[in-house]
Amino acid sequence: MCGYPGDGPPDSDRTPPAISWDDPGVTRSPESLRSLPSVDRLLRAEVAQSLIARHGRTVVKNAIRETLAEMRTCTPADSGSATDASLLEQVHVRIEKATRPSLRPVCNLTGTVLHTNLGRATLPREAIDAVARAAQQPTNLEFDIDRGVRGDRDSHLEALLCRLTGAEAATVVNNNAAAVLLVLNALALKKEVPVSRGELIEIGGSFRLPDIMARAGCRLREVGTTNRVHLHDYADAIGPRTGAVMKVHTSNYEVVGFTSGVIEGEIGSLCHERGVPFVVDLGSGTLVDLRRFGLPHEPTPAESLVSGADVVTFSGDKLLGGPQAGIIVGRADVIARIRRNPLKRALRVDKLTIAALTAVLDLYRDPDRLAERLPVLRILTRPIAEIRGAAHRLRPLLSDAVGEVAEVRVVDCHSQVGSGALPTQHLASSGLAISPRTSLRGRGAAVERIAARFRALPMPIIGRIQEGAFVLDLRCLEDESSFVNQLWALKN
Ligand SMILES: *Cc1c(COP(=O)(O)O)cnc(C)c1O
Repeated sequence: MCGYPGDGPPDSDRTPPAISWDDPGVTRSPESLRSLPSVDRLLRAEVAQSLIARHGRTVVKNAIRETLAEMRTCTPADSGSATDASLLEQVHVRIEKATRPSLRPVCNLTGTVLHTNLGRATLPREAIDAVARAAQQPTNLEFDIDRGVRGDRDSHLEALLCRLTGAEAATVVNNNAAAVLLVLNALALKKEVPVSRGELIEIGGSFRLPDIMARAGCRLREVGTTNRVHLHDYADAIGPRTGAVMKVHTSNYEVVGFTSGVIEGEIGSLCHERGVPFVVDLGSGTLVDLRRFGLPHEPTPAESLVSGADVVTFSGDKLLGGPQAGIIVGRADVIARIRRNPLKRALRVDKLTIAALTAVLDLYRDPDRLAERLPVLRILTRPIAEIRGAAHRLRPLLSDAVGEVAEVRVVDCHSQVGSGALPTQHLASSGLAISPRTSLRGRGAAVERIAARFRALPMPIIGRIQEGAFVLDLRCLEDESSFVNQLWALKN
């Protein structure tokens, strides 16, 4: 089986930031130093003037100074003949680099569809438009237009969420970790929360259930063992000090073998008998039955609520396919308690999130067209023949771009959902494997150099390194033209 980057850093994070096939670097001779122009002379040049018009005098002057300072120590191989024009070109490049936003689009060809390090779900057009509208103008974020009085930001989402999950009430916070923190703090401060030992999860990016529980001010009460838990374990753990019982969807792993769990319905009935709230953290959670789209089943909030959960929490940017958010649905009185907690104010979502999430939830009202309109679902259900077709189309172009350095082959590979959803399910996919034409000894370094080269493109292409090749899984490549249009930059 292959190694996937999963929720960890992309493979490429381990590679040095080298961007060229080979390493130039020559020290400048003393006589050429004397010929360097002054800062003022360069500032007067026409190129410098147009840079000043765009970036301001301070930025350009500093960039000239830095460029000249660098020239005094180390220059590219073709040194000795630095002209004003070539120096100004370097100034230009330096300014471009410094003013480029840190957060940039990248091309996710890692094969992990919901890659946490690459921003998880991409939004549908409808959500992007809604975000732009909400950003441009004042909105009725917390204003009741009909009555002319203060409103509630949850009101924009609550009805939709209730309709899609069957819940009585709903609220939304910054992410699912925040949702879990808030729910536990609101329901079980200074109280015990029984959780199965097999569900004490850690999720990439430092979400550890025991830590969150401690910060929420609750005492974790472990029940059962790592592989087995029984209903009587829960029954024995519930007492006067119990604030809530929690079940966590073990979203990024599966315990297999001699295992036994207690189904939600049984814990739900037990909790109701004993009068304690039952909380389910679903993690990913999707609002439709994925089997309808030919994908494996992933639990839905509606199913948990039917099983007797009083509160269910899940992420907005995992399988749901929306913006980062933590969604809390459940019984009206319990949600009311959660809303009154002061942490709710600290963890609340902004208008842009509300705009995006509303637009995404709206798409769920029409499940027939969901797989076309929601990018996450469109990508997960993309037919293998289509992906393979793209691989065959792109292979010669990529082969031409990498030239003599490497060989490009069409390969079968497996994508995964990512972000902990459906952890053991791999989706058959197709991709391009780029193998360096080097002897076995230099192979590791050569593959790393290829990966670095692709990361250095105007829109960085992130793949994964597997069995001595740099592999691009094409499942997530929806915009072929922007991929192709930058391949020229690989040639030099
Ligand atoms: C992903 C996940 C979380 C954390 O959700 P974020 O939206 O990343 O904060 C919590 N619990 C489970 C079970 C998860 O899968």
